[in-house]
Amino acid sequence: MTTARLSAAGGGAEAAAAYAARPWLTLYPEGVGATLEPRFSTMTALWDDAVSRRGGSPALYVFGTVLTYAEVDTAATALAADLVSGGLAPGGRVAILAQNDPQWAIALVATWKAGGAAVSLSPLLKGRELAIELADSGASVLVCLEDLYEDVVSDVVDGSPLERVLVTHPADWVEGDEDRAHLAEVVGARRAVDGAEPLLEAVRRGSSVALPQRVVAPGDVAALVYTSGTTGPPKAAMLTHAGMAYNAQVFAEWFGLGAEDPVLGIAPLFHVTGLVGHLAVSWYCGSPLVLTHRFDPELVLASVEQWRPTFTIAALTAYLALVEHPRLGSVDLSSLRTAASGGAPVTKAVVDRFAERTGITITSVYGLTETTSPSHLTPPGCPGPVDPLTSAIAVGVPVPGALAEVVDAATAEPVPPGTLGEIVISGPMVVPGYWGKPDETSKAMPGGRLFTGDVGFMDEAGWFYVVDRKKDQINASGYKVWPREVEDVLYEHPAVREAAVVGVPDPYRGETVRAHVSLRAGASTTERELIDFCRERLASYKCPRSVRFEDELPKTSSGKLLRRDLRDRP
Ligand code: AMP
Repeated sequence: MTTARLSAAGGGAEAAAAYAARPWLTLYPEGVGATLEPRFSTMTALWDDAVSRRGGSPALYVFGTVLTYAEVDTAATALAADLVSGGLAPGGRVAILAQNDPQWAIALVATWKAGGAAVSLSPLLKGRELAIELADSGASVLVCLEDLYEDVVSDVVDGSPLERVLVTHPADWVEGDEDRAHLAEVVGARRAVDGAEPLLEAVRRGSSVALPQRVVAPGDVAALVYTSGTTGPPKAAMLTHAGMAYNAQVFAEWFGLGAEDPVLGIAPLFHVTGLVGHLAVSWYCGSPLVLTHRFDPELVLASVEQWRPTFTIAALTAYLALVEHPRLGSVDLSSLRTAASGGAPVTKAVVDRFAERTGITITSVYGLTETTSPSHLTPPGCPGPVDPLTSAIAVGVPVPGALAEVVDAATAEPVPPGTLGEIVISGPMVVPGYWGKPDETSKAMPGGRLFTGDVGFMDEAGWFYVVDRKKDQINASGYKVWPREVEDVLYEHPAVREAAVVGVPDPYRGETVRAHVSLRAGASTTERELIDFCRERLASYKCPRSVRFEDELPKTSSGKLLRRDLRDRP
């Protein structure tokens, strides 16, 4: 099998039949069927169900504060009423720029109640990146943290489609002096912000206004989530109400989660993993979600001790940070029945180290923003096999309703099990496309079949393995970096003649960004200066950690830079 995998021999109808037979179904957990009957067709219906069943129960644990489903619902309803009376039209976009704060839940639910679509923005974005995403999404409202308003938003409001900016302090829904003091230490004290309205004021105003009936449909956009994808400028995957509700149910049924299963929120809420694997899953279950503003190993461990979560999902980097923490050995993590990892390769050495120190086996999950989080999950208690050739751990098996195939990259024909090719996914979790980008959509997901850009294979049993990426995208700690975006910035530097950016292996981040540049004749600069130049213009995770100076960069005969060649250099 191992040698056959290196070439895409054979294929066609016989290979297609091997995937259509869905051999993975025999690996499913007990009680999980080949297809799933969706309980909810919209996220609003899913949310309303949680509120009616679990109104008095905790929806959020934020440090020591408990917010019930009814309390979150009351705030969200009031905000929705204020959004509507402020002119938000059905389908209007409300951007959210926050850390893992209760405001995420309140603003998201409010947007849906007002019949709008949320735009998920990364708090790491710099001004010019933010301006691009605001313009692309056409967001008319932004809910954002005060410190982010001052640092990045205030410079880009003019010229953006924003009509309203609602600012909030992370402590706005946090009680307890100690927790408030902690947040003030992290982001500064609450302050008045020129040119923006306080979110609390909008909620107060909306509480005395009746919310008009706004109905959302299953295929409506629930959230626009930006992904750099394979090529081109950042584009927003349109996560639908039905797709989000579907994958929330997939997670819950697969891992047997219910109301007694607090979810530990360590993935960022702006990423599809946090949106679906934290918010939507906990709401589907009617269980609490544990939030700590930002990922801080000490606070995460304290929250686990206090709130006893049973489920979490995060990129491997989070587990790496926890496994190195000196207090790990003295913290009781036994409540965590499922610790899933996705968004980036899951390394066996880290899985083993984590298991040694905690007794918990990290579970592999695979998916993309374009699959509304998981397309593949690992059955509980059944660790995925390890590929002897590449040492890659299986990423899981396709979830109910998903058809995954491996196809020849050139012909797009299915290749036999055991053979390398591009992973293609179809099913109810695949998004209908990219916002406002029909050409990019038909290229990436023709006929609803998503070409993932990931190279891998399926074994005879139906396990999938991701061996390499077809795309050049760099994956630093789960954060995806688009090399050309960094190159574009380097090209802005007066001394730079050519620039190529590649991902190179890094023991902590999985991959890190390395730049190769050649300089203009007579010009000079330093590695430090170029890195600082990028830092002023890009989120820090996108910035090169090292720069190599070359006389000439390698190119193909048609003049394309040979990034692969550079990546392979020691
Ligand atoms: P995103 O849209 O940010 O979630 O990124 C999706 C990409 O992350 C996929 O196309 C893969 O390249 C990578 N990825 C996700 N899960 C895994 C996994 N379990 N193993 C390896 N790569 C993964």
